[in-house]
Order: sequence, then structure tokens, then C-alpha cells
Amino acid sequence: MSAFDPRAALDALAAEYSQRAEAIRRDLGRTHSPDFAEQAQQRQNDDVLRALLAEAEAGMRLVGLARLRLADGNYGYCERCGEEIESRRLQALPAAEYCLRCADLQK
Ligand SMILES: [Zn+2]
Repeated sequence: MSAFDPRAALDALAAEYSQRAEAIRRDLGRTHSPDFAEQAQQRQNDDVLRALLAEAEAGMRLVGLARLRLADGNYGYCERCGEEIESRRLQALPAAEYCLRCADLQK
């Protein structure tokens, strides 16, 4: 197994989120049908798209914060208890702010 590179992982994640956000913004920018029933359907879809967009933007914020921690040398430490975050967890969620235990406490 190759060593985990948080910088590359965060870059990949940021690229993924921004591509997703861009695609959603494109969808949201399309013109609405003049047909009323179709319009109602499109507005419902827009609500879903806006929720997805908010999710992608929240993800980008987390990646940005993780990059700051990387620059500070604080990357990989739990924001709550200060313990090291499990490496398996970081590989799955490179922008994770909390260790597994603290993330569980948050639920
Ligand atoms: Zn913790």
C-alpha cells in the first residue's frame, strides 16, 4: 500500500466538490419550461439541487479548513480532543475534523 498523501487527497476532494458544484449550478441556471405542471416539477428538482449544492459547498469548506490545518501542522489531530485521528479514517475522509470517538459523540 502506498503512503497516504493528505495533500493529494485533499486536492482530489476539492476538485471533485468543485466539479460537482459547477455541474449543479449549470443545472440550476437552465431556463424553466413555460408549462405550469412542468415548472412545478422543475422547482422541486431545483430544491433537491440546491440541497446538493449546499452539501458540496460545505464539503469544500471542510477541505479548505483541512488545508489550513495541514499548513499549520495540525492536520490529522482531532479538533475536539487533540488526539491523532485514525489513519484509516483520514484515508476515507481526508477532511475529517474529529477522531472516530468524538465524531460518534457528535451524533
Ligand atoms: Zn477526538
